[in-house]
Amino acid sequence: MDLSFSSKDNAFREEVIDFINTNLTDDLKQKMADNRNSYLPKEDHVRWQKALNEKGWLAPDWPVEYGGPGWTTTQKYIFDTEMANHNAPGIMPFGIKMCAPVLMKFGSQEQKDYYLPRMLSNEDWWCQGYSEPGSGSDLASLQMKAEDKGDHFLCNGSKIWTTLAQYADWIFCLVRTSKEGKRQEGISFLLIDMNTPGITIDPIYTLDQPIEGAQEINQVFFQDVVVPKENLVGEINKGWTYAKYLLEFERGNAYAGRLKRGAQKVRAIAAKEVDGGEPVINNPDFRNKLAKLEVAIQALEMTELRILSKLTSGQNMGPESSLMKCRGTDLYQEVVELALEAVGTYGVPFLPLIPGQNTDPVGPDYASGAAPRYFNARKVSIYGGSNEIQRNIMAKLILGL
Ligand SMILES: Cc1cc2nc3c(=O)[nH]c(=O)nc-3n(C[C@H](O)[C@H](O)[C@H](O)COP(=O)(O)OP(=O)(O)OC[C@H]3O[C@@H](n4cnc5c(N)ncnc54)[C@H](O)[C@@H]3O)c2cc1C
Repeated sequence: MDLSFSSKDNAFREEVIDFINTNLTDDLKQKMADNRNSYLPKEDHVRWQKALNEKGWLAPDWPVEYGGPGWTTTQKYIFDTEMANHNAPGIMPFGIKMCAPVLMKFGSQEQKDYYLPRMLSNEDWWCQGYSEPGSGSDLASLQMKAEDKGDHFLCNGSKIWTTLAQYADWIFCLVRTSKEGKRQEGISFLLIDMNTPGITIDPIYTLDQPIEGAQEINQVFFQDVVVPKENLVGEINKGWTYAKYLLEFERGNAYAGRLKRGAQKVRAIAAKEVDGGEPVINNPDFRNKLAKLEVAIQALEMTELRILSKLTSGQNMGPESSLMKCRGTDLYQEVVELALEAVGTYGVPFLPLIPGQNTDPVGPDYASGAAPRYFNARKVSIYGGSNEIQRNIMAKLILGL
């Protein structure tokens, strides 16, 4: 594998860096530095995504015919890496990255014409309605009912852990349309307008962010919600196929860029922080853990490059996406754990970071995000299908066990 970049690629890298320097304003930089993850408040995220869209860069994986930039896999990799190097906000995945590929492959022409341009222009914010109370890993057991009423479906039930549903204009939902046959054969894929009467959103408060409006996850209730028939994607009772296709896009992220940046930050903190009269970085046990982590991140980067070099524009990656999700999130948890270890007792009073609080953070600037990031990162081995489930998928589909 040739890992060197051509002069054209290097020129592209300069263009990406220029874009970031122009559009990642000081206030966005500060918010990202203080943040527990790469989700910003809605207005900031939309501002960033509008700038990307004006440049034609909001949907790097989309084919050109739908408004994608037509990048090579190397260009996509450079873009991701520079966004990570500069700690730029991520692209909100639910519309652009998850629902869009399903619409492109299985949606009607009307659905493509209506929803895809609105995703690019940031008119619609999407959320994902897969999980239900009692139906997470065993997703095929889902119960939310969509009864066929002639020209519409009548939906009843609830979805849970719905990320940023409080901002959403639309939700893509897996719903039960039949109880006949195998459980997977009675599921359909529906697009639901979040402003439809009968929908209520209850926030779920987590340890890292317990105040109203700033929470990340929700439970969404549907009571006699009327959904027009034209909002069905593909065929009735075929939603399981579309759901699985979407999950490959949800899981197949590139992680190495942000991990490398995280590990560099840990190294910098450990050089400044002193424990027992010595910089933390001089502690042999700490050095050993950090070195092992850096090697593992490098190995993941090589794996990502190998997988990316096999893909052509717009293709999904298949079960390797489970490998990336599992390894990327495990290593991310190690990075934030080591950062918390490096800041020592400054990690304890982490609550002042919550937006709206008026107490000053304790300790140096670099210490204040460590604890919220550590707590927030508990989720990464659960969402998108838990890492235990990813290992089951790899065992079956990659190793053939
Ligand atoms: C922060 C966060 C955000 C999320 N956002 C969304 C969202 O926007 N939309 C959405 O639809 N869902 C979302 N989810 C839900 C997520 O996909 C589920 O939490 C996940 O699939 C696990 O399901 P569960 O929570 O029901 O746990 P369970 O399925 O009850 O699993 C509990 C434990 O048992 C293990 N387990 C279960 N079955 C097996 C098995 N067969 N083999 C080995 N181990 C097993 C699991 O790994 C886990 O450790 C989110 C979750 C979190 C934490």
